[in-house]
Amino acid sequence: MYIMEIIELRGCLEDELIEICRELGIKQFRGTQLFQWVQQKAVLTWDEIRNISKSDLQTLRSRMHLYSLKHVHEQRSKDGTRKYLFRLEDGEMIECVLMDYSRKSARDRHTVCVSTQVGCAVGCTFCATGLEGFRRNLSSAEIVGQVLDITHLVRQEDPDFQVTNIVFMGMGEPLLNYDHVLKAIKLLNHEQGQAIGMRRMTISTCGVVPRIIQLAKDNPQVGLAVSLHAAQDEIRNNLIPMNRRYPLALLMEACREYSRITHRRITFEVALTADNTRREEAAALARLLKGQLGHVNLIPVNPVEGTGMERPNSEKIMEFTQVLEDAGIAVSSREERGADINAACGQLRRLWEGD
Ligand code: SF4
Repeated sequence: MYIMEIIELRGCLEDELIEICRELGIKQFRGTQLFQWVQQKAVLTWDEIRNISKSDLQTLRSRMHLYSLKHVHEQRSKDGTRKYLFRLEDGEMIECVLMDYSRKSARDRHTVCVSTQVGCAVGCTFCATGLEGFRRNLSSAEIVGQVLDITHLVRQEDPDFQVTNIVFMGMGEPLLNYDHVLKAIKLLNHEQGQAIGMRRMTISTCGVVPRIIQLAKDNPQVGLAVSLHAAQDEIRNNLIPMNRRYPLALLMEACREYSRITHRRITFEVALTADNTRREEAAALARLLKGQLGHVNLIPVNPVEGTGMERPNSEKIMEFTQVLEDAGIAVSSREERGADINAACGQLRRLWEGD
């Protein structure tokens, strides 16, 4: 028996919708209108679509599925960060975070940190998601859906709200869900949709070496951040188990190749805990990154229950920074966001599920 494939509307690019309209005998410009309703106006249901006839919508509904994520819970931090818990159609839950920098800078900046997988197979020991194991990849519609649903929710309070930046840094390893992440990037970048600039999107990886090379070759012009966290294999093996498969020598070779092909600077993320913020670790990091096009972003960790991680004190952070700067390495320190609302990846879901 032939079963017609039902297409996820939020995962379709404009030209794909135009093609579907053509196949269904609907005027092709309806494809552009549909794309704008879904991706730009962020409607949650078919009933909100106004300028397409009921009969055309009925025909489109027979081929396509529009679903929004179920908004389960929201936490708001004193610093304006909002953390959302969404339920997917199959009952799985994901988190995403909206960071609002508008009060700190002249230009409004609203950054959404999206999830790319349910759970994660990498199992980093400092990460609440890593403690859960891998459940499944998100579709491109589900990845984009996080941005659209947050936009829809915030526009109820602020009709002009617009997401300006995306970081693929939520639950999951984005480069292990490569095709869906790249399609989501195209959807979010599309000028008839959210029109978020490629350079305002950043993929964060713990170091999936073959995909770093592939990303360089595909070169979608997005930023790349590598979660380094340690400059010695014996320490990194314990923090990021994937380091056993792709140790630092291989990872740094891939990073050099990435910069050679793309001429782009890589951000090296280093989470600082009370245990790894020592002078000798900073010196090892400086040696590892010598000659690499990039800069280091230091992130003092939010404590995660069950991981035993603690924040380092500010003197240790300053000393660590100084060692890197003395070695000529560009360093920034990421402003900690949402410390009072469990904003570290996977924490809210664990609390909600009563873990
Ligand atoms: S830090 Fe990222 S890659 Fe590591 S376990 Fe958590 S979600 Fe996965």
